[in-house]
Amino acid sequence: METTEPAGSATTDAVDEIHEGGCVCGAVRFRTTGQPANVIVCHCNWCQRRTGSGFAVIPKFTKAQFELVSGHLNHYRSISDESGRWLDLEFCPNCGTNIGFLQELRPDAHAIDAGTFDDPSWLAPDRQWFRYIFVRSSQAWSALPEGVEHHHGHFLDKEGPGLP
Ligand SMILES: [Zn+2]
Ligand SMILES: [Zn+2]
Repeated sequence: METTEPAGSATTDAVDEIHEGGCVCGAVRFRTTGQPANVIVCHCNWCQRRTGSGFAVIPKFTKAQFELVSGHLNHYRSISDESGRWLDLEFCPNCGTNIGFLQELRPDAHAIDAGTFDDPSWLAPDRQWFRYIFVRSSQAWSALPEGVEHHHGHFLDKEGPGLP
């Protein structure tokens, strides 16, 4: 399995790239600057539950790359049943849209849910480093694209990359 970062994901013209997004009602607006370290496509049960879908697509930014432009984010602390660490879900207090989350494991990271960008199509496998994780809990109706980097559990797990 490939674990190297594709060329072009850190090109200089992409460093200052600005993208905006927000919640369904429009009260929460945010802006990100630059490229995410990677884009996690997470099939874990927690992401299925919190999104109400088959998986989550999560570009990982640093806190410094994220700016709340308007509105307010409420937080709900969730404890991982796998690691025991906390994850703070962020959502609009008015419409409930889940914008992303903060995590105990990575204090400097700000995970954003890709679909909350106004135009999420700027995220693409040939532009950023996509990593499919927790594919052991993926559903039959959300099959992986062929040839992508994927892991049974988290990519930090000792078991490493593997087949679904
Ligand atoms: Zn809202
Ligand atoms: Zn997940």
